[in-house]
Amino acid sequence: MNIRILFILGLLFFSALQSCQSDAKNKVEEKEITVKVPRFERDSAFKYVAQQVAFGPRIPNTPAHIACQNYLSSSLKSFGADVIEQKFTAKSFDGKILNGNNIIGKFNPAAQRRILLSAHWDTRPFTDSPITVGDKNRPVLGADDGASGVGVLLEIARQLQLNPVDFGVDLVFFDLEDYGDSNGGASESWCLGSQYFSRNLIYPANAKPDYGILLDMVGASGARFAKEEISVQFAGNVVEKVWTLGQAMGYGNYFVNDQVGAITDDHYFLNTLAQIPTIDIINRPIDTQTGFVAHWHTPEDTLDKIDRNTLRAVGQLLLAVIYREHAGTL
Ligand SMILES: [Zn+2]
Repeated sequence: MNIRILFILGLLFFSALQSCQSDAKNKVEEKEITVKVPRFERDSAFKYVAQQVAFGPRIPNTPAHIACQNYLSSSLKSFGADVIEQKFTAKSFDGKILNGNNIIGKFNPAAQRRILLSAHWDTRPFTDSPITVGDKNRPVLGADDGASGVGVLLEIARQLQLNPVDFGVDLVFFDLEDYGDSNGGASESWCLGSQYFSRNLIYPANAKPDYGILLDMVGASGARFAKEEISVQFAGNVVEKVWTLGQAMGYGNYFVNDQVGAITDDHYFLNTLAQIPTIDIINRPIDTQTGFVAHWHTPEDTLDKIDRNTLRAVGQLLLAVIYREHAGTL
């Protein structure tokens, strides 16, 4: 039995379970059974992570940063997206003028109903985690912190090209997320790209996405995605439907029911500045010194930390969200 058949059976089982629960919902369940969700290819997503990592650290104002932005932009174009490069400059907390570029791939740009899926593509210039041993001024390679989320979204772009759907999806790769002040600095020192995006929206009035989903550090083995406070506060209904679907698909070991405290991440500015309700899917393991996975902001955030199964859990869930939203069954 191949994986595709297993997946379809899983979908049927999920639908059957639901139809047992309520006869009144029968009409919806009949529709649900016809929703075809493409299979997310974990090896393909992994390859997109590896290709980013191969550029080296994607630090603003470096040749690797420019090379990676060209790769991301041309990849999105090759998958059939309408690409917007939102170039800007921003001042870092340590006084540098940084050249940023939010890379946006729009599918079905004219569709009324749309969602926004995002991740940051830059990497942190400093390995300044409290647990880093040795020089903290080395850059982070960012296999997990950056490349993992973008890799998942590139595979989603490829699937959207292979399985066209009449539903708007905007993939947004934020720049300059990770150049913030970790030494007691303001929240606004982080997420410079999403702040710029939120203040300079590409959408005409009344045509914003219904909601957004941010991915950050979605590649580690055994990742634990708990319900984060800002996500719950601004987009609680989105958290609930995404987590419920993830658990029904068998990913309950990743999408746990625990709540965790607020994280300053790109979703904060999408919620507060752009007023796009946005959730953050971010790895928050328990019993770690930093509250994040051990390789976070250390020299150990390397490709060997990426687990294809975690990429698939997140990517398959997002594909189910897209195709079920389109079918009206989410
Ligand atoms: Zn980071």
